[in-house]
Amino acid sequence: MSVRVVARIRPLLQSEIEKDQILSSHPGPDGNTSIVKIPNPKNLAEEYSFQFNNVYDQDSTQQEIFDAEVTPTVKHLFLGYDVTIFAYGSTGTGKTHTMRGGKSLQDRGMIPRLLSSIYRKSRAIEKSTQGETTVQVSMSYYEIYNDRVFDLFDAPEKRTPTGLPIREAEGGKTVVVGLTELPCSSLKDFEVLYDKANNNRSTGATKLNAHSSRSHAILCVKVSVSSPTETRVSTACAIDLAGSEDNRRTGNGKERMVESASINKSLFVLAQCVEAISKKQPRIPYRESKMTRILSLGQNNGFTVMILNLAPVKGYHLDTLSSLNFANRTKKIEVREVENDPIFKRPVSVAPVGGPTIQRQPLRPLT
Ligand code: ADP
Ligand code: MG
Repeated sequence: MSVRVVARIRPLLQSEIEKDQILSSHPGPDGNTSIVKIPNPKNLAEEYSFQFNNVYDQDSTQQEIFDAEVTPTVKHLFLGYDVTIFAYGSTGTGKTHTMRGGKSLQDRGMIPRLLSSIYRKSRAIEKSTQGETTVQVSMSYYEIYNDRVFDLFDAPEKRTPTGLPIREAEGGKTVVVGLTELPCSSLKDFEVLYDKANNNRSTGATKLNAHSSRSHAILCVKVSVSSPTETRVSTACAIDLAGSEDNRRTGNGKERMVESASINKSLFVLAQCVEAISKKQPRIPYRESKMTRILSLGQNNGFTVMILNLAPVKGYHLDTLSSLNFANRTKKIEVREVENDPIFKRPVSVAPVGGPTIQRQPLRPLT
């Protein structure tokens, strides 16, 4: 099991052009990583830096991110490994843009590109084996709202308020009972089904008096490769997570607090799973939330990519910081400015409370 955590900084929106920008990206110390820097909102003389496997700047294209982060996983998918791709971030930071994207070819997100790549590879395999090996693709698409699972292929009026039950299947896998699984043998097929389900997502959400940013949308694409001797099945899941904004600050009512509690819990467990996988710990707490349990996150040999979506402007400062803290990346605190505070003369290690190791850096010499 391996995990990559990358950050993507979205460009400024038209309405933000005059706004203060707070994020910058930099090459990491080892050439293999990249860094995002952000001021400490409580002390602007300090700057935090967070290290990622990669950072995609404002001008990065969908194609670039797909080529670098998703394309390598497709090969593994066809070898029988599972692939999971998450978009994490506050509402308005570009999760849906990253995963689903716009209508134009150039704006298409990771999901349609992934499917396109799966079909291309399927055709190539079928052609090279002269039809001896065949590939079947099917999809399911559901959302988790308030810890309940709703099938996005069900029309909103067909939804039961309690959602679909889950149960333990053989081999310790968790399955959603009654979830629709539809074959889709071409990109065109896929797009029709995907668009239809996405429409159910927004109308269903209105019915439940919730906005789609309050639920996790989980698309699972099953790929079965059958040769005369064996059938290999693997799954690619692409997840547009609920907005990670801190709801204590936004003055939400009771209903919103219930939503927030379940969103916070599942994102917290997700963060712990990602950390456990990246540190190759033997115990991954995937059973502690419905989403990670259904995904069996970290239980199979597979590949997980977490894309942390970030907005570059000051209006998102606290949420951005919490997103950056989320995946427990290596974090450093640096002094940006010239306060000659003796405390910072020597590096001091600060033991964080349940967080990453923080290294205070010495003051940089005045220039
Ligand atoms: P989220 O799903 O995280 O709430 P969206 O994907 O809806 O955020 O993005 C918020 C807004 O920013 C949308 O108008 C979207 O089109 C725009 N946006 C996000 N990322 C990009 C990008 N990389 N390039 C251009 N526009 C973007
Ligand atoms: Mg969205």
